[in-house]
Amino acid sequence: MSGRIDWNSIESKWIERWEKQRIFESDPDDSSREKKYFVTVAYPYPNSPQHIGHGRTYTLADVHARYMRMKGYNVLFPMGFHYTGTPILGMSRRVAANDTELIETFHKIYKLSDDVIATFVEPVKIASYFHHEIKAGMKEMGYSIDWRREFTTIDRVYSKFISWQFRTLRKKGLIVQGSHPVGWCPRDQNPVSQHDTIGDVEPDFNEYTIIKFKSGGGDDDDDYDDLIILPAATLRPETLFGVTNLWVNPEVDYVQAQVDGQTWIISKEAARKLEFLNHKVEIIKTLKGSEIIGWKATNPLNKASVPVYPASFVEADSGTGIVMSVPAHAPYDYHAIEALKSDKKLQQMFHISFDDDRVSPIKIIESEANSSEIPAAEAIEQVGALAQNNNNDDDGKRLEKATSNLYSHEFYKGRMMQNTGRFAGMAVAVAKNEIKQDLLKSGSAETMYELVNKPVKCRCEAECVVKLLSDQWFLNYGDREWKQRAHECLSNMDILPQDITQEFDYVIDWLRERACARKSGLGTKLPWDKEWIVESLSDSVIYMAYYVIAKYVNSKAISDDNDNISDAFFDYVLLGSGSADQVAKECKLATYTVEQIRNEFSYFYPVDSRHSGRDLVPNHLTFFIFNHVAIFDKKNWPRQIVVNGSVLMEGKKMSKSLGNIIPLRAAIKEYGADTIRLAILVSAEILQDADFSFDTVRGIRLKLLGIFEMAEKWRNMSQQATEEEHHLQPQQQRLLMLEDRWLVSRLQRTIAETTASLDRLRIREAIYHTLYSLDRDLQWYLKRATARKHQNITGMLAEFLNIQIRMLAPFAPFTAEEVWELMNNRQSITKAGWPVAEEAKIDIVAEESEFLISSLLADVQNIVKVTKITPAKIVFYASVAWKAQVYKAILANILEGRITFGQIMKQLITNPETAKAKTDPKMVQKMMEDILSSPLEARNRRLKLMGFDEVTTIQDGQSLLSDEINKAQIVVYSEDDPTKYDPKSRAKSARPFKPAIYIE
Ligand SMILES: [Zn+2]
Repeated sequence: MSGRIDWNSIESKWIERWEKQRIFESDPDDSSREKKYFVTVAYPYPNSPQHIGHGRTYTLADVHARYMRMKGYNVLFPMGFHYTGTPILGMSRRVAANDTELIETFHKIYKLSDDVIATFVEPVKIASYFHHEIKAGMKEMGYSIDWRREFTTIDRVYSKFISWQFRTLRKKGLIVQGSHPVGWCPRDQNPVSQHDTIGDVEPDFNEYTIIKFKSGGGDDDDDYDDLIILPAATLRPETLFGVTNLWVNPEVDYVQAQVDGQTWIISKEAARKLEFLNHKVEIIKTLKGSEIIGWKATNPLNKASVPVYPASFVEADSGTGIVMSVPAHAPYDYHAIEALKSDKKLQQMFHISFDDDRVSPIKIIESEANSSEIPAAEAIEQVGALAQNNNNDDDGKRLEKATSNLYSHEFYKGRMMQNTGRFAGMAVAVAKNEIKQDLLKSGSAETMYELVNKPVKCRCEAECVVKLLSDQWFLNYGDREWKQRAHECLSNMDILPQDITQEFDYVIDWLRERACARKSGLGTKLPWDKEWIVESLSDSVIYMAYYVIAKYVNSKAISDDNDNISDAFFDYVLLGSGSADQVAKECKLATYTVEQIRNEFSYFYPVDSRHSGRDLVPNHLTFFIFNHVAIFDKKNWPRQIVVNGSVLMEGKKMSKSLGNIIPLRAAIKEYGADTIRLAILVSAEILQDADFSFDTVRGIRLKLLGIFEMAEKWRNMSQQATEEEHHLQPQQQRLLMLEDRWLVSRLQRTIAETTASLDRLRIREAIYHTLYSLDRDLQWYLKRATARKHQNITGMLAEFLNIQIRMLAPFAPFTAEEVWELMNNRQSITKAGWPVAEEAKIDIVAEESEFLISSLLADVQNIVKVTKITPAKIVFYASVAWKAQVYKAILANILEGRITFGQIMKQLITNPETAKAKTDPKMVQKMMEDILSSPLEARNRRLKLMGFDEVTTIQDGQSLLSDEINKAQIVVYSEDDPTKYDPKSRAKSARPFKPAIYIE
């Protein structure tokens, strides 16, 4: 079996056995394990088979579940399937429209037949086909899922659960009807969120204030109707006092349009955007930007008249296409004004003269840290000088950085200056809003929304816009009190990795009203307005609770066509309100069943760990927090979120166009599930992007093969040993050799390290310890044992494998089970428990000894390589006792932070035991260097070591050293041995842990 292992047959054997033994089915009444652990992972959208990229999140969650199970927890790890939403609908439409690209993907990547594809015109057929495909793949990957709890989001009882969720939120006033901006697909006429867009991008938008600059007509005329308005969109209305001019791009096409009855000049693109924001827009004529340059316009706040100047940085598709220029506080404006001032040609072309000083920057905000006259200029200086070229990409990035730096600095620390009228002295954060409200009230401003991350494309390929949706149903994530509770929940949660906590805080603050219903797609109807369907990021936020109920639906204790299931049922089992009897009667269920469900929910909730990809932080994961705090008692709020990055394929993003998408099931067939699991996990810690590479796959396969071979070796040896034991009576207990003690000690350390890593889900580190570091230890051990012809190592091998295999089990469950069985264990490795490090087995003498022998080996090998001599005899000289005293004193000093030679020497001389150091300052210097270049672990160990005997240690390593170095004769002396052979007087240079070496 050792040559070629049939991984696939090992996999099917264990999948079958796990199922038969119901090893991953968890119920609350399991008295052998008192602590529960509920791990969930974002359920998949079954609109395609899973590929290597999907494997990461699920494998991580499975590793977590398996680890906690081995640590003795009663782990529940369930799975459902998310049928609802527009992706599946969109796909069925594309099949119906005979979309060649999609059909080619089905053929080429997923190898689907035309017969199967033809059924996909029906959305449910797509969902159920891929549901079963994904489920089969999850089993083949070895995921330890309790499949009794499986459900889809279009199951009838699930729909009732979602209706209950929505009625509950509405009762609490958290669902409101109103007009709010949403990401919108103009073709589908539907709101869009992350799952509806190509590349899974969440449409993100900013709120701009459009400031109406009047042009033509008298300055005092407040009647906008007869005038032409040049509307400038800004994120900083408070800087209106500092406006020196307006910017228009001479190359851009503008239109003169009637906007809600007023005459505006805006870019063509802006006209279209305003329509989606419910403005009545009627285009009168088009004109080039160049025609507007030279106009004068009036600042509505201070009535100053400002000119319109040309600027190439103004984009037609950004805001209104007209920009107000605040050179004192906006780096872009400052830069453009300076460029214009020095561009005589441009000035001539547009008849601009800079004789008056109206374009001098007007400073209107001050802050302690920023004392310069022109904060924008200073902000530019801080990010580095700009190149001359106006359109340079690097310049753009620098200006952007300067802009955002200055913006946040002034927003948080700035105050309005004396030249800002009644706002003088006000904090910028406050003034910003006051000025905006004033302008809105007086009709001098409007609000506009703009996509920040455009272009965002809908899955139907139309470009998304922001739409102001009227009379739509919204989850009011803008609600202050709700946000506060979400923050409170977050602050008590464990977020892994921790650095991402801030991102959650940010999203909680940033979220506002969110459309929670759609007109199309699969899903649950909005209970009070049947024209609407609950949107798919709103029906998937508290479903972890439903896993408890699903078990009873699947076992038919609740019939799925039971129309009597009412809100009272969910109120009781999930919130504990009402009585079981009452609910049972009302819902035509057995009281026993109702009570059992309630108990099971109380047992498994809250969610102990929620796993998901990083892209779900700004939506799903944050909604998960919001909805839990809205609906459940504090004690049932989630406890942990684990976020992981995505997977690259050989360093590249996976994409259909690159043809580098590998379906998960195909990969398992080819390379084996354990190999794929490890290859996905080993290349990065969880938040970084992992890089899947075939070199890694090959390397891991060899490692796993090595473990199999070692187990077989052990098996052969132990069978032999058993036979020998019959002749050897009474049985002799073998004395532990130095390397035995060392290996046992290393095992304890590795257990402690791996456990610490896994407790924080530092997966890469944990795999490194278990697979690589331990393997290196074993190879050293075997070398030592072989060199001294130490035959009976079966006991040590058994101990080693026993621990390594158990630590490998969460990552490579199939290999672990198979090897575990090979080693005569009858029960599944899941039941074997996670190894616990034993402090008493740590042996620092053995650790130092093996460290010394391996360092000497490396040193000699180096000398041999450099000098090219063929050694016949190698002599080692161990240092004398007083040097050890000095060494220890230096070490203690260094560990206490004293690292200069002078400081240390002073300390040594004052102590009579180490005063001899005075005679050999060079030696002290060298010892210091030795210590500073040795690993921290070694430093700590040496401080604890008393009277370490280097001579005996080297003698112990003689056989190995000789074997590895040309079968040379190995001799050891103490430095002060009068009989020593020392032709080149090397002995005197011996230092503690650094014996002197002589080779001939
Ligand atoms: Zn669309």
